[in-house]
Amino acid sequence: MVSANVCNKCGNKIITGVRKYQGRYYCAHCYDQIMEEAQRFEDEKQKLVLFIKDLFVIQECPEIVLYAIEKALREGKKLSGIKGTLLYYYNIQGNAPDNISYIGTVIQREYANAAKYFEETKRIKAANEAIDINVPPVVVRIHPGDQKRKKMKYRMEDL
Ligand SMILES: [Zn+2]
Repeated sequence: MVSANVCNKCGNKIITGVRKYQGRYYCAHCYDQIMEEAQRFEDEKQKLVLFIKDLFVIQECPEIVLYAIEKALREGKKLSGIKGTLLYYYNIQGNAPDNISYIGTVIQREYANAAKYFEETKRIKAANEAIDINVPPVVVRIHPGDQKRKKMKYRMEDL
């Protein structure tokens, strides 16, 4: 039920200044937040379009690309994920950006692979940073049990 008395976001009763957005009512505070979020989203989308134009060295983004982005968003994909997918497919995997009408297929096919790639990269980076920061080489501790096992496996001369 849509009521003009209750804010659709915070659920508070709206005393003054009812705002309407996409058929729903909001208090002034929540409305401003929603507008800011919408603006941020629009900015991010424009940046993605710019990125695609740079990638394919074109002046105008064809309809088919905008359609592919909207379709991906409707499916719950994220703008950052879409950009990551294109980075992954074209920049990291080195596929030539020669057919822009293929972009929708790339987003659909590579989105999960790209997510996996970036997750793995992040994991490795975090692991490396943890080693660099937290474990100075002089204080490496080995449990007696580990040492015993290691001694059985390796001799210094072999290393
Ligand atoms: Zn509110």
